[in-house]
Amino acid sequence: MRRRNFLKGIGASSLVVGVTAGQVEPVRAKTEYRWRMITTWPRNFPGLGTGANQLASLIGEMSGGRMEVEVYGADELVPAFGVLDAVSHGTAEMGHGSAQYWKGRSQAAQFFSSVPFGMTAQEVNGWIYHGGGLELWSELYGKFGLVPAPAGNSGVQMGGWFNKEIETVEDLKGLKMRIPGLGGEVLARAGGIPVDLPGGDLFAALEEGRIDAAEWVGPYNDLAFGLYKVAKYYYYPGWHEPGTVMEAIVNKRAYESLPVDLQSILMNACKVVNQDMLAEYTARNPAAMQTLMQKHGVELRRFPVEVIDRLSSLADEVTAEVARKDELTSRVHASYKKFLAQSKEWSALSDLTYLQARAEV
Ligand code: CA
Repeated sequence: MRRRNFLKGIGASSLVVGVTAGQVEPVRAKTEYRWRMITTWPRNFPGLGTGANQLASLIGEMSGGRMEVEVYGADELVPAFGVLDAVSHGTAEMGHGSAQYWKGRSQAAQFFSSVPFGMTAQEVNGWIYHGGGLELWSELYGKFGLVPAPAGNSGVQMGGWFNKEIETVEDLKGLKMRIPGLGGEVLARAGGIPVDLPGGDLFAALEEGRIDAAEWVGPYNDLAFGLYKVAKYYYYPGWHEPGTVMEAIVNKRAYESLPVDLQSILMNACKVVNQDMLAEYTARNPAAMQTLMQKHGVELRRFPVEVIDRLSSLADEVTAEVARKDELTSRVHASYKKFLAQSKEWSALSDLTYLQARAEV
């Protein structure tokens, strides 16, 4: 009844006539909020930078233009690793990056990006959305005046680019490798020298020999940076980043100044990007891997079992030590570990067994 009355009410209006004739412009509200989003990625970088762009356009579209977000690449407003502080201080209202870059601010942050031998994308989304992860993440980032949200995932990454072959644990000794977060700490325990570098600096650092090896993401992204030109061997699996979460961070005061519907739009736009980025990697990685191998002659290498075993036990050691840093980190670690223990069993029954069965056919 209500609908019929409504239609009757506007029956003769230009709106309906316009729609049938296809002449009416979509209604766009006046822009009430103009925000800036700073990122740790080079502007428009495939998957990561474009994910940040997608987040901004979704917010604009879903709010009918009431909220517009302008995206800045690394170093355009602040350096890549200055994003957390800048959003925390309100230099920009929001940022896009990955929590492992903030271990200097908080060791606990790393659990919200990637943990060596930890959860896959599917599992970590389960933990964050339905296993208590987001509540802990919000508590942690609340200390910096920030609201966090997962906003992208790479899936299982690759182990990285090397110019020498890794045959034993000994080969990791003295190896200077770009590898951030907890993975970097594990490499250090194995005798390597981890280096933190933003993605945009990787190519030059490898080319100039400032580092011996580097991990970035996977075939889609590594091809885009041309890393095959400066390293010979491409190692797998990405033991250090099995399902890296990208994050959106929002200045808490700016977030709280939004009406509830725009807050919901912002958070749901993050959810869309969180899922869509993973879909994009899933779609682009296979072809990129073919290009790397067939066109550029990249040599694929699998880390030997001995190396993986050693890194895995060091990873347990590192995460347990990090957990003792402070009370909140300890709670984050406990929650992560508990969820992983359960999801490991289920994933072994479901995904792992299925993937093995499919590979055998
Ligand atoms: Ca990585």
